[in-house]
Amino acid sequence: MIAWLKSMLQSNALAETPTPSTALVGEKTMARQLALVIDLNVCVGCHACVTSCKEWNDRGAAGPLSDQNARGANPSGTFFNRVQTYEAGAFPLTETIHFPKSCLHCEDPPCVPVCPTGASYKRAEDGIVLVDADKCIGCKYCAWACPYGAREVDEERQVMTKCTLCVDRIYDASMSAADRQPACVKACPTGARLFGDVKDPDSEVSRAIRDRGGYALMPEWNTQPANQYLPRRPATAVGALTPLPSERDRE
Ligand code: SF4
Ligand code: SF4
Ligand code: SF4
Repeated sequence: MIAWLKSMLQSNALAETPTPSTALVGEKTMARQLALVIDLNVCVGCHACVTSCKEWNDRGAAGPLSDQNARGANPSGTFFNRVQTYEAGAFPLTETIHFPKSCLHCEDPPCVPVCPTGASYKRAEDGIVLVDADKCIGCKYCAWACPYGAREVDEERQVMTKCTLCVDRIYDASMSAADRQPACVKACPTGARLFGDVKDPDSEVSRAIRDRGGYALMPEWNTQPANQYLPRRPATAVGALTPLPSERDRE
């Protein structure tokens, strides 16, 4: 489908060539690539990253992020970051896995070349993938092209939105250096979210990926996601093997 969209849009009269400074489709050698690294071993699924992301971006440059039927049945809304929770394994050795997911800022992002207006682009200076709301016509081609379901249509404004890596925070010189971090990273109570340059071998994120087996989602799509995940470490299954007090009393 992506190939079909690309070829169709290359001949589309609406198609506009993005400026060289922002169009890096096909290039896989970013000098600098900012990204999140998420530690699945310590994420407790508290949703602090979800709410802090919504709070920051709702009032910020990327917002407002509309909600529909927020207090009624079947509420929905625009969230750049969502946490999905799964149960894995077979009873009684099951474990609950919380999986935060936002745009992965792919190095070869299929969402960019399908955009007929140049609204969707990847920055040369830091690899952040963004949407220019003023150019977006809400056609949703990019959402179809993204294999990760990371794009979010704002139903009220009818524009495409997505994680900005908090670009309006991380370069804000009026903030302290400690605050120049993505809102979700600042809010995470367990330190499950790391942020930095994955092209710098000495950065915290690169060391975490190297030392703890960080991996990218669905590498078979060749999108080269910049965000990576640190795997869960094997559980010791203490709860499953230690009898409950009442069971011990009966022994
Ligand atoms: Fe584009 Fe999806 Fe990759 Fe984000 S995760 S850069 S929206 S293809
Ligand atoms: Fe581009 Fe907007 Fe269409 Fe996405 S929805 S492809 S950003 S015009
Ligand atoms: Fe949301 Fe910013 Fe975190 Fe992206 S980096 S998920 S925009 S808080």
